Formats: sequence, structure tokens, C-alpha cells
Amino acid sequence: AQAPDPHDFLALDDELDATERDVRDTVRAYATTELLPHIADWYERAELPRSIAKELGALGLLGMQLDGYGCAGLSATAYGLACRELEAVDSGLRSFVSVQGCLAMCAIHRWGSEEQRREWLPRMAAGEVLGCFGLTEPESGSDPGSMRTSARRDGDDWVLNGTKAWINNGSLADVAVIWAHTEDGVRAFLVPTDTPGFTARQITRKLALRASNTAGLTLDEVRVPAAAALPGAHGLKTALSCLNEARFGIIWGVVGAARTCYASALDYAAGREQFGRSLASFQLSQRKLADMVVDITHAGMTALRLARLKESGRLVPTHLSLGKLANVRAATEVARTARSILGANGITLDYPVMRHMSNLEAVLTVEGTEEVHTLSIGRAVTGIQAFR
Ligand code: FAD
Repeated sequence: AQAPDPHDFLALDDELDATERDVRDTVRAYATTELLPHIADWYERAELPRSIAKELGALGLLGMQLDGYGCAGLSATAYGLACRELEAVDSGLRSFVSVQGCLAMCAIHRWGSEEQRREWLPRMAAGEVLGCFGLTEPESGSDPGSMRTSARRDGDDWVLNGTKAWINNGSLADVAVIWAHTEDGVRAFLVPTDTPGFTARQITRKLALRASNTAGLTLDEVRVPAAAALPGAHGLKTALSCLNEARFGIIWGVVGAARTCYASALDYAAGREQFGRSLASFQLSQRKLADMVVDITHAGMTALRLARLKESGRLVPTHLSLGKLANVRAATEVARTARSILGANGITLDYPVMRHMSNLEAVLTVEGTEEVHTLSIGRAVTGIQAFR
């Protein structure tokens, strides 16, 4: 028997089939050669070049878990691995892919008409057209039912009014999936971002997910035809079903972020000497490294198990709550511990750990906060709703 690999202690990747390994290796190679060399600069400048969309599209990573319409139709595990390898470089990259492929494309694929699917999905899969997903509002976060954006019928058209906040890819997008109250309950609309009355304003001064575009959207008497409504999107449940897809990506992605922080700390601990010995030789450092290995291994096992449940049709939303809560918490802990091993160097962009640590603070909040997922698990095990 072989000694454990410090970077895959329980040899979890042995569980992958040939296609999944291929996806892992392809995305890792692309992310390492094309994205990693630039990420610190993008992060510092708070930008993410739009040109990566076509590269990600050419690799089949946009909507890769969807079938047909130019999408790759790969397994949940393959999609998770792509998220892991992208987020190993930066959570902003995984976010970009999640918003395009899970939120915007998934909404169209799942709730759109055949015509809408044909119109939008192939170009979105290719990265030629970018989408965003507008649910959150300035006054409506964890409780999306309190949204104020409205859509009213006017002849054959719909007229939308309202404000959306914290919308990823918001000022890059060509089309926005906008959730709004109607006489008929919550519905979703495909709004081309050049429609008169639609404006997107990028949120600046973010201290997390800086290599990621986030915007506030304003809809002022935005008129779209009847055919812009997604016919299947009725009620908040249909919005939440898209969020569940994105949560799955986060559960895998943060394993990548944690892995990078740990690898950086392990390497640093081996090379840096104090008191005439390497940091790696101190018991306290070894404790930290061992804790990181335990956390990353648990998180990797959780991600893989959820993927297999999803592939066999047994995954339910509270499984994702457990995964998101456990894995983001673990990754956050790993990042903070890694930062401490790197000492002063750990706070710079010359090493990846502080960047990941800041990103993970935002990942803890997006797609359902730590508290919301805690209450979901609490409700599942007690049968008692404690949200309100
Ligand atoms: P709030 O809901 O105001 O919560 C604040 C705090 O109160 C949290 O700790 C929360 O857990 C706690 N809290 C709330 N309710 C309860 C309760 N019942 N019991 C206990 N504690 C509670 N949204 C989109 O629609 N599309 C996007 O593309 C998108 N991208 C995002 C990108 C970034 C970088 C960020 C930061 C956010 C993004 N969001 C997006 C919004 C995100 O989904 C919300 O931030 C999230 O739902 C939480 O809402 P909030 O920030 O308004 O916090």
C-alpha cells in the first residue's frame, strides 16, 4: 500500500471515472496556465475580463451539466470538478461559471419555452452571450418573498419596475433573468440589458470576490413582450431550484479554494525557517496542517457524496444546505489557518491565501447564508420552522 498523498489523503479522486478525470485535468491545466498567472492582478484591479467567457465556452464549461442546446450534458461530478478546479484559482471564476451556467442558463433550460431555449442557450453555452440572475433586492435578501420588483400586463407586453442588488455578472450581462411579483405570483422574465429603462451599475469597493463583476440593476418602466416571460417559472420555488444548482457548485468549488490555501501553507512551512528549524517541524504547525487535511478531506467526501446522490436522483435541498454549511465553514477555517502559517507574507497578494480567505467570507453569504442553511437543517431534523 502507498503512503497517503498529502494533497488527496484518502485518494478520493480514485473514485472518478475516465471522463471525470479528463474534465479535472483539462480544467486544471486551463486554470493553471491561463487564469492563475493573472488572477492577483485582476483581483487588485477588481476586474474580470469578458474574454474568458469564450474560452470557458470553448472548453464546454458553461451550462456543462445541461443537456442539448450546445451544452455538454456532463455528470454532476464532472460539473463539480470543474467548479473545484476553477475555484482553486479564485472563487470569482467559479462564480462567473455558476451564474452563467446554473442560474441564468438553468432558469431558461428548466423554465423556458422551446423557442427561448433555442434562442439563448447555444450562444450562452459558447460564451457569446452572458446572462445574470436578478432575485436579491436592496431590502430583500434571505427572504426573497419580500421582493418589491413588479411586472404588470399592458396589452401584449409586460412592464417591469424595481431594483435588484448584488447581481453577479450584472453589468457584463446581455440578458437578465428578472424575478418579479405579478398578479399571478412571482414570475421570471428574460430582459435584454439594452432594453430602454434597464440600467446596471457595478458595485465598487468590494473587499471580497474582487475578480468578479457584481452590480445593482434598476428597472424603470422596462417593457418586454409577452414572450419574455419564462412560462414554467411560477413561484419562488422555481427560483430556488436554480439556486440549488449553484449551491452544488459552491460545495465543490470551496474544496478547491481550501486545497490551494493548504498547499500554499504546506509549501511555505517546509521552506521557511525560524529558530533554526523549518516551520513544518514545529508541533503547532503540524497541528494546523493536520487540521487542514482533515477539513479538506471531509469537504471532498461531502462533495462527492452529494454528486452521487444527485446523479442517482436522490438529492434534496436540505442535503445541499448541509453541504454548503459544512464545506464553506471548513474552507473558511482552512484559509484562516493557512494565513496564520504564512505570517506577514500571508496578508499579501503574492500568495493566494488572503485572497481566498476574503472570497470565502462572501461565499458564506451568497446562495443562502450560513444561518439560513443552519435553519434549513434544523427544520429538517425537528420538523419545526424557525425562520420567522
Ligand atoms: P440578509 O438577508 O439581510 O441577512 C443578514 C444577516 O441576517 C445574515 O447573517 C443572515 O443569515 C441573517 N438572517 C437573515 N434572516 C435570518 C433568520 N430568519 N434567522 C437568523 N438569521 C437570519 N443575489 C442574486 O439574486 N443574484 C446574484 O447573482 C447574486 N450574487 C451575489 C454576489 C455577491 C458577491 C454577494 C455578496 C451577494 C450576491 N447575491 C446575489 C445576493 C445574496 O444571495 C444575498 O446576499 C444573500 O441572499 C443574503 O442576503 P443579504 O445579504 O440581504 O443578507
